Amino acid sequence: MRGTLVERFEAKYIPEPNSGCWLWEGSYVTGGYGQIRIGSTRVLAHHVAYQLFKGEVGESKVLHNCDNPACVNPGHLRLGTQSENIKESVDKGRKNIARGERCGSSKLTESQVCEIKYLLANTTLRQRDIAAKYGVHQVTISKIDRGRCWGICNAPTPQEVLSPMSAGRAGPAVKMTTSTNIGQKPL
Ligand SMILES: [Zn+2]
Repeated sequence: MRGTLVERFEAKYIPEPNSGCWLWEGSYVTGGYGQIRIGSTRVLAHHVAYQLFKGEVGESKVLHNCDNPACVNPGHLRLGTQSENIKESVDKGRKNIARGERCGSSKLTESQVCEIKYLLANTTLRQRDIAAKYGVHQVTISKIDRGRCWGICNAPTPQEVLSPMSAGRAGPAVKMTTSTNIGQKPL
């Protein structure tokens, strides 16, 4: 005998004592959501949890208060709209963006990023030029510009920023305040 849906559901999760999440032990779909079979169709386990314990889902989406897609604890679930569902995914994605030197495949060190931030803010150099200078893709510079990566940065001193650029020049004299000549190639 296969038992009722409730019985099958309750046999397939284990409570996680710290978070209170009910972790699904059945099969999963993409995105980490549990699934359970009802007749010949497979449905999302957290949807079933909501319907079994809290009520109809209707056209709504079932969202996780606990940010754990594998969780089927009805106490952690709430109804939301599709746009809330998308917003939740986007927010989660943002949380997962790596920070600092772990950001993507960045070849840049933190001090280089500080330089780039300074150049973006204080010079007329284009992202493309800065990207070429540091040997990275322009998208990387764009992300730094928008603060997507490397949100943390201690403001560099002008010396730190300009010293790599003065390499190869004859004299140590570097103008700090006029940014117009920064983009020029050394003669
Ligand atoms: Zn949970």
